[in-house]
Amino acid sequence: MGVGSALGKQSSSVGKQGNMSSSPGNTQSHADLKLDDGDTETKHILPMPISNLEVQYTKIFIDNEWHESCSGRKMPVYNPTTGELLCEVEEADTEDVDKAVSRARAAFQLGSPWRRMDASDRGQLLNKLADLVERDRLRLATLEALDSGKVFLMAYFVDLLATIKSLRYYGGWADKIHGKTIPVDGEYFTYTRHEPIGVCGQIIPWNFPLMMFAWKISQALCCGNTIVIKPAEQTPLTALHMAHLIKEAGFPPGVVNVLPGYGPTAGRAIAQHMDVDKIAFTGSTAVGKLIQQAAGGSNLKRVTLELGGKSPNIIFADCDLEYAVEQAHSGVFFHQGQCCLAGSRVFVEDSIYDEFVYRSVEKARKKVLGNPLVPGVDQGPQIDQKQFDKILDLIESGKKDGATLECGGGPWDQKGLYIQPTVFSNVTDDMRIAKEEIFGPVQQIMRFHSVQEVIQRANSTHYGLVAGVFTNNIDKALTVSSALQAGTVWINCYAAMSSQCPFGGFKMSGNGRELGEYALQEYTEVKAVTIKISQKNS
Ligand code: ADP
Repeated sequence: MGVGSALGKQSSSVGKQGNMSSSPGNTQSHADLKLDDGDTETKHILPMPISNLEVQYTKIFIDNEWHESCSGRKMPVYNPTTGELLCEVEEADTEDVDKAVSRARAAFQLGSPWRRMDASDRGQLLNKLADLVERDRLRLATLEALDSGKVFLMAYFVDLLATIKSLRYYGGWADKIHGKTIPVDGEYFTYTRHEPIGVCGQIIPWNFPLMMFAWKISQALCCGNTIVIKPAEQTPLTALHMAHLIKEAGFPPGVVNVLPGYGPTAGRAIAQHMDVDKIAFTGSTAVGKLIQQAAGGSNLKRVTLELGGKSPNIIFADCDLEYAVEQAHSGVFFHQGQCCLAGSRVFVEDSIYDEFVYRSVEKARKKVLGNPLVPGVDQGPQIDQKQFDKILDLIESGKKDGATLECGGGPWDQKGLYIQPTVFSNVTDDMRIAKEEIFGPVQQIMRFHSVQEVIQRANSTHYGLVAGVFTNNIDKALTVSSALQAGTVWINCYAAMSSQCPFGGFKMSGNGRELGEYALQEYTEVKAVTIKISQKNS
């Protein structure tokens, strides 16, 4: 199930039931509440967040044990919905990174329990971890909503499902990673081994904290690597719960080490560490450059990067209009717009432009803002003040640059980090809102006239993460999808992702691919072994 399609289904059914109070305190702890669907007689059973959830894990996880930080420092973790302090967690820095890397190295030594383990058993461990995530699904979804401001039902249905699926998918790969035998000169026999790279540093962002954690560790572990992973400073809590589950599943000590900490300290220490063999990073393009530099300036560790985007979504006049409006809407507004794959440049063909804008504005106006734990709410707060201010600044630039503000355009008039769903029309390619990644609930709608024109404009960016095309003409769909410079092109759908399908960017949107079989080559080294065949016996 795709991320976008999952959200579409979930948010419409949630939106229809209107019989729950939207008071932030009104959360219930059981998963079996029955809700009426306003349109039909059908009864839906929706999960509910756990009320008064206590944060259990707040320390640094190294060698399957919980540690205090070497510096004695802790860092605050806030609930973006209320601005209240959720808890403090131990703050990892360089010394803690050194400690974690040395334990990850020890776990990777030849002869260690992890290196001796049958590859099938590695797969079993990933499947066991998936079982534990299923058991704790409600707890993890609640924690994710509290920590990141993500709509609880989205966390439960989209993020948790993707988490479980990626653990199981890569669990399946663990014993299917094969080399080749290669015909060479008759006196020799050559074969290849696909070996784990070693200690992998992984740095993840705050927008999909749990799902990113699962993507990153499952790919690395199925190939037999060991890991030092740093969650984003804003959202460390689900990663720390996962650390507990990793130990419970039975992974040997040192195989996965989880270090909450800040980017310029702990993150930088991982990126420039001489004993980290590979780094995988998801986050901003600016930090992606720093990671690449740190790798180059230290031990030339292997680097994969999944970075930003300013993705085009191209709507031709011959599409199914209502469906395209809905997909383009969720393609931008999904998770408050805090998504690297947001289709934030919507190019619409001239003849349907006005109608498309009208319907898009209607959709944006219907969004329900509020506490993401409360059923019926489909837009929560932005993650923090910095992002909130950046989004508002870009909205102001759109107004100043002469785009037409169709709806929204400012903070939501309640306290908190909420931004009104905003739609701009008559956006031109030179405006900042058409060029810069906004990472907020802001849709830009541009007009185009011809296929060649829209291809040229869509590609006219340093980014190249994803793209969408909506048309009922197969020739047009194939022509445009071949011409677009993007790692993924969706035709008549948007954000339709799965564990099996590679994901990553062209140009400044990244290096390498995550997910699918393609990710295995990012976590293995190929070793060629050539044997001289003795002629003595012939
Ligand atoms: P955003 O701008 O959306 O917060 P970032 O790219 O800054 O995204 O952050 C993504 C991840 O990168 C986070 O885990 C953050 O702590 C980390 N990070 C930030 N700066 C650095 C850095 N200089 N070196 C390594 N990691 C960093």
